[in-house]
Amino acid sequence: MAADNGQMLPLMEAFRTVQGEGAHTGRPSFFFRIGGCDVGCHWCDVKESWDAGKHPLTSLDAMVANLGPNDKTIVITGGEPLMWDMNPLTAALKGAGKRVHLETSGAYPLTGSWDWVCLSPKKTKAPRPEWYAAAQELKVIVYNADDLRWAQEHAAQCGPDCQLFLQPEWSKRDKTLPLIIDFLEEHPEWRLSLQTHKYIGMP
Ligand code: SF4
Repeated sequence: MAADNGQMLPLMEAFRTVQGEGAHTGRPSFFFRIGGCDVGCHWCDVKESWDAGKHPLTSLDAMVANLGPNDKTIVITGGEPLMWDMNPLTAALKGAGKRVHLETSGAYPLTGSWDWVCLSPKKTKAPRPEWYAAAQELKVIVYNADDLRWAQEHAAQCGPDCQLFLQPEWSKRDKTLPLIIDFLEEHPEWRLSLQTHKYIGMP
């Protein structure tokens, strides 16, 4: 696919919002959602991102042209953006003076130069080892009680300054939120992440 060298990317969405999750919750951010993902989470809420061929190959210049001077923080999400070489995109965004944040499962090799890496590991496709050292933030989606044990396995591999978040999977939040709150009482190094953008009706 022509996206392989990272000069053209299958862009699914480009939108301005307020970051709803994790360490940068509440921060105004511009999101680029890159198409393509083969990680296969059964609860995925962006399954329409999976087939990269459904999203138009877009030049980096066209992507950067969306941004205004007040777009300070740019979040690259997916899909799984690391299916593509992220070096050209992050260079273009940094060249435009932006801070560049990443949301990734870590299932693909690390490319790109990032100001913030949020690693969100998935059971269906394990993160590659290099992502644990690169992550400033570990965000584990909690679908059932076993995910709390599993979260600790990943935290043990992250650096000492990595911020740790547990986030209820949206469709199961009524069931898992009490489990997470109990867990936090025993494990205060973790914090709760809610998908606050969904509560306020933002993308
Ligand atoms: S890694 Fe993300 S985009 Fe891919 S299937 Fe899982 S939740 Fe969906």
